[in-house]
Amino acid sequence: MANDFSSRPQPAAATRAIHHGESFASETGTVMPPIYTSSTFAHGNPGGFDYTRSGNPNFRILEGVLASIEECSHATVFGSGVSAITAIASSLSQGDLVLCEENLYGCTVRLFEQVFAKFGVETEWIDFTNAAALTTIAARQPAMVWLESPTNPLLKVIDLEAVCAAAHSAAVPVVVDNTFATPLVQRPLQLGATLSLTSTTKYINGHSDALGGVVCCDDAEWQQKMLFAQKALGLMPSPFDCWLITRGLKTLPLRLRQQMANASAVANHLAHHPAVAWVRYPLRTDHPQHAVASRQMSGGGAIVTIGLNASRDQAYAVCKALHWFTMAESLGGVESLICHPATMTHAAVATTVKEKLGISDGLVRLSLGCEDEADLIADLDQALSLLP
Ligand SMILES: *Cc1c(COP(=O)(O)O)cnc(C)c1O
Repeated sequence: MANDFSSRPQPAAATRAIHHGESFASETGTVMPPIYTSSTFAHGNPGGFDYTRSGNPNFRILEGVLASIEECSHATVFGSGVSAITAIASSLSQGDLVLCEENLYGCTVRLFEQVFAKFGVETEWIDFTNAAALTTIAARQPAMVWLESPTNPLLKVIDLEAVCAAAHSAAVPVVVDNTFATPLVQRPLQLGATLSLTSTTKYINGHSDALGGVVCCDDAEWQQKMLFAQKALGLMPSPFDCWLITRGLKTLPLRLRQQMANASAVANHLAHHPAVAWVRYPLRTDHPQHAVASRQMSGGGAIVTIGLNASRDQAYAVCKALHWFTMAESLGGVESLICHPATMTHAAVATTVKEKLGISDGLVRLSLGCEDEADLIADLDQALSLLP
């Protein structure tokens, strides 16, 4: 059932997410692709497969849809978002400098500081919302610039086009971790990035039942590096997880629409709540980088971060009192989650670092799911009413 995309005008993303190009099962007319559990393939097969660590029909199906959604030439899938990060970082050499946004995802920070540092890869952490960062690129001549936007958990938005332009004129490749926005909301490659990376564990799969990662690019040389890392470092996903993520991706446009509507409604509701000191949501006019966000994002995403007028214990109690929000790490699933960084993701982080990152005791991050908007708001109201 190969769909020939070239013979007709480009259908919209919602159509492309459902109708992937190949299923490798033309004899049966199967609507969903089978799961190819085979670890190895007969030599000389027309698909060019040899061994699943270096490629599998289920990887290829998922890669096709992801490249289509990202509107780029190449996508390589990995076993997790962290595997995708590892694949990119493993292309660096001893003595290379990576200029990193200072608010990168915690596991990215840990990989650079506790693993790649041992192999002589250096990092420097700067605030890319600061205009001075643009001149730092030319001055420091790093091997790579590593960005994330919006960031976790404070949803800082970086002007990707401006940073990519500065990096481009210094011939420095730029990596953008696009997990929070998804390729439906933000296209790093079109804004000038060299590599766009996404943890497909989150919105792309959307059902909190598989881990995966992807690196997208338009550069054949980078694509070869990614395929090399997939095979040489054993960073590949499982065929079953690719199959799950391919299935999840079919409803991404639908899910995200509901999730973003919920996020926007919750953000606007909480902004007027007496127990809430501040609300952070990229498309609200009170967001510090609102102008950049509305230029480079087609929606605000589905994460809302708030500051409660509450102590650490009180904020924890509010999270625990919710019925429809599960207190858990991760994000992007159909079910709403709530995270209290002070006692969860950032519990082990030194107080001075937390202060620098803006992680206060009353800070709470909401990942909006697909539930009914009124139910979510009523739930938040009842939990917040417990505060003195
Ligand atoms: C979750 C996440 C990752 C890591 O992805 P895994 O699939 O958990 O390995 C990387 N970056 C961001 C922004 C994430 O939220």
